[in-house]
Amino acid sequence: MNAHAPFSFALPGSDRIIVIGAGIAGLATALRLAPRPVTLVTAAPLGFGTATGWAQGGIAAAMGSDDAPALHAADTVAAGAGLTEADVALRVAEAGPGLIDWLVGLAAPFDRDAAGALALGLEAAHSRRRIVRAGGDSTGRMVLETLVRVVARTPSITILVASARDLMRDARGAVAGVVCERDGARFPLPGRAVVLATGGVGALYASTTNPRGATGRGLALAARAGAVLRDMEFVQFHPTAIATGADPMPLATEALRGEGARLIDETGAPVMAGIAGGDLAPRDVVARGIFQAQARGAQVFLDCRGDLGARMATRFPTVAGLCAAAGIDPRLQAIPVRPAAHYHMGGVKVDATGASTVPGLFACGEVASTGLHGANRLASNSLLEAMAFAPAIAEAAAAVPAPGQGRAEATTLRSDGDPEALRAVMERQVGVVRAAEGLAEAVRHLAPAARAGCDAALTGLAIAASALSRRESRGAHWRSDHPTQDVPAHTELILADLWAMAEAVEPGRAVAAA
Ligand SMILES: Cc1cc2nc3c(=O)[nH]c(=O)nc-3n(C[C@H](O)[C@H](O)[C@H](O)COP(=O)(O)OP(=O)(O)OC[C@H]3O[C@@H](n4cnc5c(N)ncnc54)[C@H](O)[C@@H]3O)c2cc1C
Repeated sequence: MNAHAPFSFALPGSDRIIVIGAGIAGLATALRLAPRPVTLVTAAPLGFGTATGWAQGGIAAAMGSDDAPALHAADTVAAGAGLTEADVALRVAEAGPGLIDWLVGLAAPFDRDAAGALALGLEAAHSRRRIVRAGGDSTGRMVLETLVRVVARTPSITILVASARDLMRDARGAVAGVVCERDGARFPLPGRAVVLATGGVGALYASTTNPRGATGRGLALAARAGAVLRDMEFVQFHPTAIATGADPMPLATEALRGEGARLIDETGAPVMAGIAGGDLAPRDVVARGIFQAQARGAQVFLDCRGDLGARMATRFPTVAGLCAAAGIDPRLQAIPVRPAAHYHMGGVKVDATGASTVPGLFACGEVASTGLHGANRLASNSLLEAMAFAPAIAEAAAAVPAPGQGRAEATTLRSDGDPEALRAVMERQVGVVRAAEGLAEAVRHLAPAARAGCDAALTGLAIAASALSRRESRGAHWRSDHPTQDVPAHTELILADLWAMAEAVEPGRAVAAA
């Protein structure tokens, strides 16, 4: 169903600040705003429906005696394939140790060594041991539980379980609140500033490790409000999602390969043989290696049999539990795996205070494009990024003047489209390996639903159109028809650009595809 119903409410609105999303980004921002009044809008009850709760690896921070923020920043820049902004990487890395101390102060139960010091893990592309973790591979759940506990006893934070469906703007175009939906009814929630903390886009793909709600609605809301979206084409595919038919797909953390697990095909032959870096190559290289083997008809498995399989229950309890639920005994059986959409590097373009290009609108966490991740995220940098930006966002949002007299408007477009058809198109045409023809087909498929008001289609369209416009291969974006790198540059678009890009490839329009 489509409904194009204008929504209007009288200002002055409330002095409150609205945070949309209750993962690490939303919770950390709400806490940093205390004691200022905050309404935290979340589509699912606190503690549910977040990628945060599923994080397995941990949080990167230069805590070791042989480490320094400059080294962490250098690794981040190297992973970003020419598009990470060095000053942002350094600022976030410098904030790391203090943010771990902040979580420790909130009673986060991080793993410690025999001497009581934080146990630091090593992950691919990190030059030092700097991954802080909790409960082995249960870091996300434990950090989320810690933050939820503190938020629940913070009186300035009001929780509203509802879905944000649109942003309201005043006569100057500044964001002045949110149109929410609960039990099929829509209602306005005025506020002086809105912080999007709505997470990623993985659920736009048929194969994903993300929660079902990760459809990038926050990006669609921002685009409809006039915000600039940046580097939307950069979607990171995790190489080893467990392929046993579950949706979303459970994750087999990369740390398993760090500890000796090998990628094999159904004959036992190594899948990554002959590829630089082998099983420990960067995430995008391994994802492409597996994708290409599967495109040739091979089945791919993560082989943890033997000693690693025996240690799994203690060292990787989350993966052990996921395998048990899927009926796999990793001591005896190799785990079937496939690449899956995992993390979105692109997002709402923000500055150092998390401010978007629209007054009153901020973005934090995976929905934001801060300049940290470039074309490829360094593992375990995303939880850190969200916490690192929250204090500056809180300060800047608190300084936004309350809306003046007048009325605020929003046009709430409603259409859910056909989610499964959308996910199939994204998987087939906007996945691990891309080419102009398939991307143009995706744009043609998604544009009508996006125009009809389907937020998921709008976000998918922005990813596909940006991928079509980037005629090179860089980081997580691989074009089989443009396999080399060009000069590093960001892609940016606003809604009008997106419609123009769609028209350029739609039937009967000027043929201007790549
Ligand atoms: C399986 C897995 C493992 C990972 N492991 C790691 C790791 O080890 N280290 C690391 O740094 N990163 C890891 N990541 C990435 C990291 O977990 C995420 O990038 C991070 O948690 C994102 O936090 P967030 O707060 O931005 O979004 P989320 O935690 O996803 O929270 C989004 C919130 O927004 C809400 N929401 C969305 N849309 C709306 C709407 N329209 N209205 C109201 N509410 C809405 C959701 O309900 C949810 O509360 C992993 C991700 C996955 C999926």
